[in-house]
Amino acid sequence: MPVMTALLALHQTERQIRALRSRVDSAQIYLNAQKRKLDDVTTRQNELGDTKKQRQARIGALETESASVEERLGKLREDLNSATSTKEYHGLLNEVNAQKDAKRELDDKALAEMSEIESIDTELGTLADNLTERETVVTKATTELEERTAEVADRLAELETERDTRRADVDASTLDRYEELLDDLDGDVMTEVLAIDPRRREYACAECSVHLPFDKVNRITASADEVLECETCMRILFVTEEFREELVKK
Ligand SMILES: [Zn+2]
Repeated sequence: MPVMTALLALHQTERQIRALRSRVDSAQIYLNAQKRKLDDVTTRQNELGDTKKQRQARIGALETESASVEERLGKLREDLNSATSTKEYHGLLNEVNAQKDAKRELDDKALAEMSEIESIDTELGTLADNLTERETVVTKATTELEERTAEVADRLAELETERDTRRADVDASTLDRYEELLDDLDGDVMTEVLAIDPRRREYACAECSVHLPFDKVNRITASADEVLECETCMRILFVTEEFREELVKK
């Protein structure tokens, strides 16, 4: 079998394999993206949970402090009642007012923390709803991936066997180059020679449109054992049977 014939047959199988795999790959990519979104929700939940604990601890500390100021105030008020001079009375009254201010400040801080916690609770509620939605999406995407994988499994196995057979028809060095290009060009490795203006011997690469020297086109057309690449896009050039017949006619 001529090399180009074997290579084109192999490539056809390779393309079918890649098309089937891409169905599975796209399901996998979708699932990964959905899992990331789910992770984002749980990460945010954990962050908020930590912040909430910190704020609750701060409230606890503020309340303790406020209680001790309150205790102090109680004593000051008793002293105030038993003050023996105007000077002492005024001094104690100033202290009472200072302590009242301190307590108000502490209580305001505690209230501010509580209102922050309320906002956190609101966001946590929204996140809990989000999480449920995200989990449903991830479950669906997982099922979709499993189904697609199962759908293509038999056909893929068949095609892989076929590919092995067809690989065996291609000589080792051509096969090496072909497979190297498969990796580099993500499967898109064969390209047709297009006749732009045959009378003026103008031909081009169908992939990148670069003009191809007539000598090269002639070699590919004359022998199906010639494996030549487009020097611009690196793809392996082939001609169709019709092209070959047309060129031979001239
Ligand atoms: Zn090209």
